[in-house]
Amino acid sequence: MRLAVFCLMIAITIPSLQSCTYSGQTTISTVISGATLFDGTGAEAVENSILVIVDNRIECVGSDEDCPVPDGAEVVDASGKYITLGLVDAHMHFFQTGFFDSRPDAMDITDTYPFAEIAAYQEQNPERYYDTYVCSGITAVYDVGGMTWSIDLEEAAESNPMAPHVAAAGPLLTPVPGAPFDLPSDRVLVQLDSEETGVKMVQYVSALGSTGVKFWQLDEDNPEYMGYVEAAAEEIERQENQMIAHATTLAQAKAALRNGAKLLVHSVSDVEVDDEFIELALENETIYNPTIIVDDGYLKAYLAAAGMEPLSVTDARGCVDDRTLELINSADQFSEHPQFNGEFKSYLERGSDPQRMYDSDFFVRMNLRKVHEAGIPIVVGTDAGNPGTLHGISIYDEMEAMQEAGISADDLIVAATRNGAMAMQRLDDFGTLEAGKFANLIILDDNPSEDISNMRSLSEVMIKGNFYNQ
Ligand SMILES: [Zn+2]
Repeated sequence: MRLAVFCLMIAITIPSLQSCTYSGQTTISTVISGATLFDGTGAEAVENSILVIVDNRIECVGSDEDCPVPDGAEVVDASGKYITLGLVDAHMHFFQTGFFDSRPDAMDITDTYPFAEIAAYQEQNPERYYDTYVCSGITAVYDVGGMTWSIDLEEAAESNPMAPHVAAAGPLLTPVPGAPFDLPSDRVLVQLDSEETGVKMVQYVSALGSTGVKFWQLDEDNPEYMGYVEAAAEEIERQENQMIAHATTLAQAKAALRNGAKLLVHSVSDVEVDDEFIELALENETIYNPTIIVDDGYLKAYLAAAGMEPLSVTDARGCVDDRTLELINSADQFSEHPQFNGEFKSYLERGSDPQRMYDSDFFVRMNLRKVHEAGIPIVVGTDAGNPGTLHGISIYDEMEAMQEAGISADDLIVAATRNGAMAMQRLDDFGTLEAGKFANLIILDDNPSEDISNMRSLSEVMIKGNFYNQ
């Protein structure tokens, strides 16, 4: 009786949503019908699909025979459209703004933008990026390195119905001494200078609830340092956490894999990966995130700051927030910055030659194909927040770069959804469109399996059962 009354009240107070009974439970349901649906498992698309959503979860997905439409459900006709799971950006950083104000190590503009103020703003206002991500069709993000507060976002975002799911690693272990973007009270980089430092750091971030512990560069030829890494890696295992590594050379990547790395967040870019690398990665069940576009992003941000070429922002849905746009659009205020002396400027001119950029990515593209063909799972991760790689919208560029490197659109749909959830250790909750999982999905006008660029034809986003309204 009580349920019936509750049911009625919802129907009256929220006219757009209707209450109903499904599987014996009284609750709100939405049905999306008629679309061609990719469930993220790599299975063949379901044409003319029915998707039943009850509260924030998927109740049923399949054909109209599999999933009868519950009485009183709100039915959204998506005939002629395409549905995939909401995208997962498996590599981003909440503390970074997309420009040099959050990376004084790359260009010091702290006279104009004091880093302490920028860092405080980033901590206090993560919602602007929640919005940008969901607007861009991204319903889960993995922050693989930041200050300790980034770990708090996991819970905060989970309980916010319009925020993407968040996983976060927190501060990184590194052989290099403290960076200019550390604060006295919180830091991004922790210098791994003893076994004890590593073990305590792993215990601390694990107790905070971190998803992963990341190593930023490995000093693989230094046995003393590698001893510290080994001790930290053993503690990661004891804490049932996972090791993440930023490793851009084959030697670094193999050193990380020998210590059990589960996620490699940059490409091996110096040489072709070898059989030993592949065997180690398969044995560990390591996930590979190529992170292709971020270098190009830096170059574009420098060109914009030098006043040589404005940073173009492709954002048809208007997802990028005003503060970011202002920052990007006023980049050339730094054109007289001492960093842009003659030598650096001519480096920028040479670097922006498209053929040169293409050539420098040769091993990145080759290794991505090789890793993928060997059966190592790949994910889509942009490194957003770094200068020139904007939060949210950059995922389209990254997927297109991966497609250009030779990954099929069908495989990219899985990489950008299921595999990303797997990297975040959230596959039980989302990552595929299956009964019982969160209703995180996007509706597209054009077929993403024909060309991954069609992900840009986004028309609707549903996050945790709610349609996102701009
Ligand atoms: Zn990164």
